[in-house]
Amino acid sequence: MITDADRAFLQMALDEAEHALRENTYPVGAILVDDKFNVIAQGRNRVHTNKDATAHAEIKVIREAGEAIFDAKIHNKTFTLYSSLEPCPMCTGGILLAKIQRVVWLLNDDLGFGAFQKMNDAAIFEAKFNKIEMIAEPDADLKNRQLELMRQWERNTNHVSNLRSAIHEGGEI
Ligand SMILES: [Zn+2]
Repeated sequence: MITDADRAFLQMALDEAEHALRENTYPVGAILVDDKFNVIAQGRNRVHTNKDATAHAEIKVIREAGEAIFDAKIHNKTFTLYSSLEPCPMCTGGILLAKIQRVVWLLNDDLGFGAFQKMNDAAIFEAKFNKIEMIAEPDADLKNRQLELMRQWERNTNHVSNLRSAIHEGGEI
């Protein structure tokens, strides 16, 4: 179950994802919120913007949160990480390391690098996953908007298959 507040933060994550797509990189946005509904950090994918394969939205917010992450760990505060897309293996690892206790995302990413559910199902770090509330695809409208961003991304010149075909076409001239 999600609340109106959850939906508002998911909308913020989607806004960040749209911003990322305008910057010609993966349309993923993330927001980190504390248990008093304060936004601790927000961010978007910068893989192509920064030419950094690890510049994912979720990692950006965890890094930006800095000391707040340690304060939350010590005082057992529940932080929620909202992402527009299911976290990849790297970001799932970051979430476990940061001991973020609640994770909500708009769209599963079974065909891409979506890993949160796979790592949970595989019982890797089972005890750590058991402490996390996981909410996948809670809102059909916002999910469809993220899905549309992913479809637009597939047509973007920076998408890897388009970069490859551009090289191939170039070779034929
Ligand atoms: Zn990631």
